[in-house]
Amino acid sequence: MPELPEVETVRRGLERLLVSRRLTELVVREAKSWQIDPVLLEADPAPAATAGAISDQAPPPTPDPGSISDPAPPSAPTAEPVPDAAPPSAPSSGSIPDSVPPSAPARPPAPPLSLDQAWLQARDRHLIGARVAGARRRAKVLILDLDNGNSLVCHLKMTGQMVVRGDEDWGAGHPTDSLLARLPDRSTRLEFGFEADWRLFFNDQRKFGWVRLMPTAAVEQLSFIASLGPEPFDPDGFAEFQRRIARHGRTSVKAALLDQSVVAGIGNIYADESLWAGRVHPARPVAQVSDAKLRQLWRAAAEVMRLSIELGGSTDRNYVDAEGKRGSYLGFANVFRREGQPCPRCGATIVKTRVAGRGTHLCPHCQRL
Ligand SMILES: [Zn+2]
Repeated sequence: MPELPEVETVRRGLERLLVSRRLTELVVREAKSWQIDPVLLEADPAPAATAGAISDQAPPPTPDPGSISDPAPPSAPTAEPVPDAAPPSAPSSGSIPDSVPPSAPARPPAPPLSLDQAWLQARDRHLIGARVAGARRRAKVLILDLDNGNSLVCHLKMTGQMVVRGDEDWGAGHPTDSLLARLPDRSTRLEFGFEADWRLFFNDQRKFGWVRLMPTAAVEQLSFIASLGPEPFDPDGFAEFQRRIARHGRTSVKAALLDQSVVAGIGNIYADESLWAGRVHPARPVAQVSDAKLRQLWRAAAEVMRLSIELGGSTDRNYVDAEGKRGSYLGFANVFRREGQPCPRCGATIVKTRVAGRGTHLCPHCQRL
């Protein structure tokens, strides 16, 4: 599952490759993956985005009823053999990475969905022609801001990945062969066209991820974003983190670190690594962790993620070598999935246990209850 550092790697790639590019096309191949905020589906030209205009504060994973009138593909194509594996919108052969295996099995993509009139109008009015103004991230949510007052809010969930094909080929997110494959393929859910034949593919094997077009002004009000704690990379975030974690005095410190309303974006790997770095036992109640230790944990979380991003930064270019034989993105880990191995600090044997309902790795010598 993409953790925050992988999402940050995706963000950096999209920022580098897509900012200032103009959108020319959107092909939707999976209805569940694409959402338009209802306010953008109104027939009249949408008023300037205001907070009051956003009535739907529901979290995006629930598809908006009516946003896509006919989610069923026009025919039942995925099971049919497709004689020519090259999709009509495949990039020119010059942009296919050399590393695409010639023997790769044909994986025909789902056909574009037929979409209703309101949807097409909304796409043409609010998406096509806009330029990408910036790429932000909040916890594990990616936000591509457009220059027309709208944003594309993206969640990769379990298996999402973003792949850019243009003068440069790039991809990051959940590591699968699709990062290097001829696209679209069967995992392709959305396909954004940009000027000069650049394309952005949103691939997602398991279809839990989504992209939502909505007014930029409303993004921060999405309930799952509004409730997030501070980002570990925010140098001013510690005081807020301290205030929020203090409400969880009796909770184990690991459970508190995993709580997105306490600190945004810390997943299981980074909780274990931070606790090891801070020499704090994961099951220790928050109330028994000193302020100095909390500050140490806060710094450690940012540091471990920064290191992971640095290492992950090479996986987007060298996926086969790096992921290929798995684990290189965990090369930074001192305890995570290292049970049975010696603690890099003291040599004691790392153990795996269960805290906060999650598999938890710790050094029993450095991290005592
Ligand atoms: Zn140790």
